[in-house]
Amino acid sequence: MIRIAIDGPAGAGKSTMAKLLAKELNIDYIDTGAMYRAIALKLLRSGTDYEDAEALRAVLDSTDVDYYGGSVYLDGECVDGFIRTPEVSEVASASSAKLDVREKLVALQKAMGQKRSLVMDGRDIGTNVLTDAEYKFYLDASVGVRARRRALEMEAKGQTVDIAEVEADIASRDWRDMHREHNPLKQAEDAVYVDTSDLSIPEVIDVLKSYIH
Ligand code: C5P
Repeated sequence: MIRIAIDGPAGAGKSTMAKLLAKELNIDYIDTGAMYRAIALKLLRSGTDYEDAEALRAVLDSTDVDYYGGSVYLDGECVDGFIRTPEVSEVASASSAKLDVREKLVALQKAMGQKRSLVMDGRDIGTNVLTDAEYKFYLDASVGVRARRRALEMEAKGQTVDIAEVEADIASRDWRDMHREHNPLKQAEDAVYVDTSDLSIPEVIDVLKSYIH
């Protein structure tokens, strides 16, 4: 069994690389960020205040999140098309700091990692979810480069983009991820650090593959 953990800040190229690597190795890809986004979507749809611990608990107890075949499911509904909005990004970033949210999703993700070979990307995969993964990578890039990549993705979807706003949004989400109490974003001691700022997608894949045997 091969488990590959990929962590790093927003826009470092984690999901692009994880998806390509999974395809090349013919193993599953799990986007844990999509699972946090699905919970955020449920909170928004149900009008739940995630600061209200009891209300949050009630929603989590009655919510089913799953990820398979490259898609995320919320209570059985594929919600890929609803989770990439700025509103969901913001609520996912804030609610993922809540211990109850993390405990629910981390348990699911750990169970996935016991059954089969996979590439899993997120913020705490190497440090918390798949601590015994065969390979761990920490992808990084300058905040300017990450903001430009995110802006290009948004423009490709026809959205109007203010690059300074995108950069500020990425910087604030990173800060929250790195400074939260539970499972903050940090490089695992045994992870390989890769700065993708000046590398093309095939170049990053080559670097990652050079470590995988
Ligand atoms: O990766 P993505 O930006 O889609 O993740 C959405 C949010 O979920 C992130 O801003 C982060 O706060 C949270 N997240 C997390 N732990 C993970 C994956 C994502 O806290 N393993």
